[in-house]
Amino acid sequence: MKRWLRRGLVLVLLVALAGMLVPTSFTVPVRGADRRSYDQRSYWYHPWGRSVTHKGVDIFARAGTPVVSADHGLVLFAGENGRGGNVVLALGPGWRLHYYAHLREIIAAPGDLLAPGEAVGTVGSTGNAAGKPAHLHYTIGTMLPRPWLARSGPHGWRRMWYLDPTPLLNAACAP
Ligand SMILES: [Zn+2]
Repeated sequence: MKRWLRRGLVLVLLVALAGMLVPTSFTVPVRGADRRSYDQRSYWYHPWGRSVTHKGVDIFARAGTPVVSADHGLVLFAGENGRGGNVVLALGPGWRLHYYAHLREIIAAPGDLLAPGEAVGTVGSTGNAAGKPAHLHYTIGTMLPRPWLARSGPHGWRRMWYLDPTPLLNAACAP
């Protein structure tokens, strides 16, 4: 077996184990953000263009502001991803997927193990945020579906695959 493949498999196993053993934590992913940096109705806002519903929270900040890891994480993807522009996707404890989009710069690389608060990139307006005020689009997905989060309404059933970051942000951000 190729060494990088073996290393990758070991990492995934370790993170899967950590997903069960390491408690989740939360660090605000935009340095210096407060409760005015995002809208309380940002999550699952509808209508939301081709996405239909908005599956994350937009956190506004000056372009170039550091974007940091919200929790421990294994970087699964870092690069260009269509509407998301420059994105980073990381798997963290609790089988949570943290998705950081519209980055100006990407700092993390696939295979990186991130500590909470570690640099991921910087706030920008890449992808379909081009021409709009710079912001981080932040989504928390869950690899363990939670049917009790399902609702009626547009994309209601898909909500079992996502967690609302708003309460976490509200608890961690100054008013
Ligand atoms: Zn967004």
